Amino acid sequence: MLQDLSKITALAKRRGFIYPGSDIYGGLANTYDYGPAGIELLRNIRNIWWEEFVHGREDVVGLEASLISHQEIWKSSGHVGGFSDALIDCRNCKLRMRADHLIENYLEANSEKLTAESFGEKNDDSSKKYIGTQKVEGMAEKYMDEIIKFHTIPCPNCTENKGDQWTGVRKFNLLFPVNLGIIEGDQSLAYLRGETAQGMFVNFTNVTSSTRVKLPFGIAQLGKSFRNEITPGNSVFRTLEFEQGEIEYFFDPEVSNWEELYENWKRDMWSFITEKIGIKTENLRWREHSDEERSFYSRRTEDLEYKFPFGFKELWGLAYRTDYDLSQHEKGSGKELRMVDSQSGKKTLPHVIEPAVGVNRIFLMALCDAYHEDGDRVVLRLSPILAPYKVAVFPLLANKEGLVARAQDVYKRLKKKYHTAFDARGNIGKRYLSQDEIGTPFCVTVDFQTLEDNTITVRNRDTADQDRIDLDQLESYLHDKISAWKI
Ligand code: ATP
Repeated sequence: MLQDLSKITALAKRRGFIYPGSDIYGGLANTYDYGPAGIELLRNIRNIWWEEFVHGREDVVGLEASLISHQEIWKSSGHVGGFSDALIDCRNCKLRMRADHLIENYLEANSEKLTAESFGEKNDDSSKKYIGTQKVEGMAEKYMDEIIKFHTIPCPNCTENKGDQWTGVRKFNLLFPVNLGIIEGDQSLAYLRGETAQGMFVNFTNVTSSTRVKLPFGIAQLGKSFRNEITPGNSVFRTLEFEQGEIEYFFDPEVSNWEELYENWKRDMWSFITEKIGIKTENLRWREHSDEERSFYSRRTEDLEYKFPFGFKELWGLAYRTDYDLSQHEKGSGKELRMVDSQSGKKTLPHVIEPAVGVNRIFLMALCDAYHEDGDRVVLRLSPILAPYKVAVFPLLANKEGLVARAQDVYKRLKKKYHTAFDARGNIGKRYLSQDEIGTPFCVTVDFQTLEDNTITVRNRDTADQDRIDLDQLESYLHDKISAWKI
């Protein structure tokens, strides 16, 4: 198990997966750019997700909603009023962090739980539910101030602040406002979307009236969301701009059993991550939200968590959200968002189950899970469907024209079918190492024997074994190996 995220961040920059955003201008905190290898991996994840959850199913249709959206959407959804984090600053070293994370990390590291005393004189009926737990997400600021004081929680970044140099905890809204047109002010205010989900709710009637969907069915979207987050800097795990893959699965609770649908989604999410993305099951777990943590409208919420080098963290959330979202938008917009059964005339306000994943978190997880050190050799054991390049082609020597020309022929042929790399720099050992580091499963070398008998060598990334095969067999060889791949 990879313990050290810095190995991933160093590899990611060195090999063109992720670069710090706005790099030559000194960087812009919590933004990242994806390089040539990174974008291939990211696109592969997106494609596999879309294949699995939209094209692969009969009951899900796709959508792509606008990133900039009407302020009323975010008022109805509750984001303008309630989508905020609790912030705290260290007066000494100026560290700014989420107060809930400060408290939770402290309690966990010290195996402490909240007691009545933790809340000091603020202890009341509403604080009772937190006693005996280590979870404070969603808690009122006044309680957090007391907890930090009572437990004398020190700054994790400096030694000066032993718990007595914190600012007060204050709320900070995560939505990014944008002003449209040339006049600033409330009239022109819109928001960059904070999640893709609202696009599915506000387009519910558009989709039902323009397609032949029938309950139960899902609307899926893959796209960017924006949150003005305070992040602890764990690479692309938490960023200001990120990509989500969300499905709103609508059903009539009088006809479908929500627990059954929920379990089906759990099964589909699990098999996607373990079988399609190829993640080791020992690094995954389900965590159910407690009553305190769960949103008030949700009947059940669970997170599929991955064991990142910085601990088990949410990868994919699954929530039964009842009819909260559609009913909020009915109220906010004044439009009816019910489905009418054409035969019985029955009107239904559907309930919804939402699986919501972060594509960039799948990306980071895939890098962490695939990272492998074999002596000095670093190998990314990505499954071939994820690997940025499926195969690399080399001439044995770069200065022998006949070898280079033949290798170019092989490269051009393979490129039509697989994303293929060509490398004639340095020696063959170095070329293998650099392909290992970006996870290329196969390296094909054209050597002098090729010119005589039309055979090439194919090297396997994980075993470093080489097979010599006839060039005419190469495509079927690769096809068979890729189809039979097991992590
Ligand atoms: P967290 O508790 O980690 O902030 P969340 O519960 O707010 O996440 P959701 O609103 O449920 O997240 O969003 C669905 C998914 O989007 C999450 O499971 C996560 O994978 C991803 N995600 C959320 N916020 C970010 C972010 N700032 N950067 C990258 N991915 C994110």
